[in-house]
Amino acid sequence: MALTLFSRRPAPAPAAAPVEPEPWFETGETWTPEGVTVVERYWTQVHAVVLVYTAAQGYRHSVACLGCHYQETQYKVRYSSLLTLEQAAELANAHAAQCRAVPREIPARPDEPAARELLRAAVRGMRKRDYGAFCFSDLDTQRLVLQRTNDWIVDELGRMADEEPDVLKASVSEYGTTFYIQELPGR
Ligand SMILES: [Zn+2]
Repeated sequence: MALTLFSRRPAPAPAAAPVEPEPWFETGETWTPEGVTVVERYWTQVHAVVLVYTAAQGYRHSVACLGCHYQETQYKVRYSSLLTLEQAAELANAHAAQCRAVPREIPARPDEPAARELLRAAVRGMRKRDYGAFCFSDLDTQRLVLQRTNDWIVDELGRMADEEPDVLKASVSEYGTTFYIQELPGR
C-alpha cells in the first residue's frame, strides 16, 4: 500500500481489489475549481499542469500554470485582446514546452471570510488604478484562488457596496445591477 503513495500513475487495481489506490496529491489533472470551466490541460516536462480556463462561458479565456505562477489573460501582438480558445491554447502549449517548475499544490478553496476578503482586496486594488464600471474580466487572474461562482461574486459585491460605499457603488436599472469602482479621494 505504501508503495502506491510514490507511484505517480499506479497500475489499475485488480477487479477484486476492495480499495482504490491512494491518489497522488492533486496537481490539477482533474481539478475543477468552482466558478470557472477548465477547457484544456497541458503538461510541462516535469508534469506540472497548465490550465486553459474560462470564467465567461468561452467568451474569453485565461492560462495558468500550476507549477510556476505564469498567468495570461491577454494576447499581445500589435494590441492586447482577450484570449480566444485558440490563442490561449497556443500560449499554454508554448509555456508548457519551456516551463521547468515542478508541480505545486493547487490552492485550497478558501472559506467564506477568506474568499470575501480576497474579493474585497481585489476590488480595492482596482480602485487605485481604475475608475468606472466593475468588469468581471479584471478578476480572471484571481479566480483559481477565489474559487467562487459569478453569482456569489455579485452577491458579495452588493454587500461590499453597502458596507464600503467609498470603494464601490451599486447602480440598479431595469437591465440589472452595475457596480462602479469609486475614485480615490484627492485626484
Ligand atoms: Zn510554468
